[in-house]
Amino acid sequence: MSVTAARGVAPRGQAVQRALQLGGLTPFTSIDYPGQLAAVVFVQGCPWRCGYCHNPHLQPRGQPAGPRWGEVLDFLRRRAGLLDAVVFSGGEPTIDPALPQAMAEVRALGFRVGLHSAGIVPQRLLDVLPLVDWVGLDIKAPLACDAGHAGVTGVRGSATPVRRSLAALVQHSRVSGLAFECRTTAHPALLDDTALLAIADELAAAGVTNWVLQIFRTQGVAGALPPVGADYPSPASMQRLRTRLPAIAVRRG
Ligand code: SF4
Repeated sequence: MSVTAARGVAPRGQAVQRALQLGGLTPFTSIDYPGQLAAVVFVQGCPWRCGYCHNPHLQPRGQPAGPRWGEVLDFLRRRAGLLDAVVFSGGEPTIDPALPQAMAEVRALGFRVGLHSAGIVPQRLLDVLPLVDWVGLDIKAPLACDAGHAGVTGVRGSATPVRRSLAALVQHSRVSGLAFECRTTAHPALLDDTALLAIADELAAAGVTNWVLQIFRTQGVAGALPPVGADYPSPASMQRLRTRLPAIAVRRG
């Protein structure tokens, strides 16, 4: 092997395959992949700027502060038999071109693969779905309302890729049986009763049955959103939501 190849410089005309860029690793969790003991790797970088983001340090793509991917693989080899799964979270995992390769390597070690995504890069989501065992897809706001969606993400046009990602995920799940849930971070200043109903209608129409309302938590958030009262969503609103999606779950705290 030449010196340049050993340093990862690809031959002319061949793209360099960079390793997954990580902002952090949680070595053990029982809450990030339903029913599984998992490690979570946090991909560095997200193009959106949600006001309630709990990981704003993961938003810039440059200067990843987490472990190198090779170090994560070494860690996982030592956890064989102790962990069930590895969850790829972020940031936004689908922005990283190295995601498919990293998932394949995790599968080769015998772990299940989970994915947390906001559906920002639909084509890469499609590419990795055959490598994934469970997906949690963020639905930030009604997808038919571009302005409302951008109001949450801070980015114009942000609903468009999510519409494609949701359709691709539902279609893939119908064929493969892939388990997934849609999740929405809920705050009354961002999503009133009408907006929540609109999301429920869209998800039901798309064929989604698992929807989780994650009530906004102030911990770790630098933004100006106030705490959410225990009366949100109201009982009447929950009743209407359940007529659309009977299995809706609410997570607080
Ligand atoms: S999509 Fe997720 S990681 Fe990106 S800014 Fe929003 S909450 Fe943060």
